Amino acid sequence: MPVGTVGSVKGVSQDVLEQLGVQILLGNTYHLYLRPGLDVVRRMGGLHRFMGWDRAILTDSGGFQVFSLNDLRKVTEEGVTFRSHLDGSTHFLSPERAMEIQIGLGADIIMAFDECTEHPADRERVRESMEMTLRWAARSKKYFEEHKEEVPWGDSRQPSAVSFQKHQVASDQWLVAGNRTVDEKTNHQSLITRHSAIATQALFGIVQGSMDRELRRESALRTIEIDFPGYAIGGLSVGEPRELTREIVESTLEHLPADKPRYLMGVGTPEEIALYARMGIDMMDCVLPTRAARHGLLFTSEGRISIKQARYAEDQSALDPECECSVCRRYSRAYLRHLYAANEILAQVLNSIHNLHFYMETMRRVREEMGTSH
Ligand SMILES: [Zn+2]
Repeated sequence: MPVGTVGSVKGVSQDVLEQLGVQILLGNTYHLYLRPGLDVVRRMGGLHRFMGWDRAILTDSGGFQVFSLNDLRKVTEEGVTFRSHLDGSTHFLSPERAMEIQIGLGADIIMAFDECTEHPADRERVRESMEMTLRWAARSKKYFEEHKEEVPWGDSRQPSAVSFQKHQVASDQWLVAGNRTVDEKTNHQSLITRHSAIATQALFGIVQGSMDRELRRESALRTIEIDFPGYAIGGLSVGEPRELTREIVESTLEHLPADKPRYLMGVGTPEEIALYARMGIDMMDCVLPTRAARHGLLFTSEGRISIKQARYAEDQSALDPECECSVCRRYSRAYLRHLYAANEILAQVLNSIHNLHFYMETMRRVREEMGTSH
């Protein structure tokens, strides 16, 4: 999942994302909540319609940004008080509020509110944090179940399952109310059938437990008890050694049901996403392809290239001779290096398109190798 922080994958338009074969994007609840704000997105019909993207979207809970961007945050059992990084204004996020915001944004997959435990932390602190995340997961689910019909999807998307149920009740009353003609009943039934093919948002739970295998196991089992349609592994890629990340992912995966999506949050390099996919991870998100691109760091079949280097100034070869993206088919390293050196916006655009293509291609190869074409 490319990361579309504020409802935009930086530098890459939605039609290009479609051409790249992107099936799902990640939007950051924290950023969208602060700007343009929940009410604006809701009034615009939800994030899909607002940003002109009818493929899938996942929003995170906002927790991670609150914990990573705010030194002045205050965490209590109730939730987190924090200051906006934009204007210093004070805000409060709780499991209920994070659900309310994510339901209002209307992504297809939304995430339970969790505490991303700081690293390093001692075992007692990790347990405390994990226990609170479990209580927050239960509160997230409760609020979601009670409010999931409040999605902003208008005519452009299907109504939710709950609104369907309401419709069904009204429909039964309508039928009972009497003397309907056969045609009226048939039309009505086809409407009902159409409405029954719809879904609500899916709320995923998040496993925490820092770098402790035993606590990870416990967090996984107790999150599964709460029962979600998908599970994420959170709290990794927070500065620990890569080998440790791998170990924790491997041991946590053992406890997560293989027939539900398993989502590793905030990972990783092309090598890492291929490795984790082979281990059984189904979903990942990372800002790396687009963020690195904006800094002139490009992933290629020949390794990483820092396009700003003078040695590419007159290099007429394609950025990556093996790559079939629109950038590599058309432009030379010399031109890309020039755009970067001249601080042209196009440098960021083209670099991002290539890196995203490289990531999509990496995953396509893994799927092919594993015999899953979707
Ligand atoms: Zn390319």
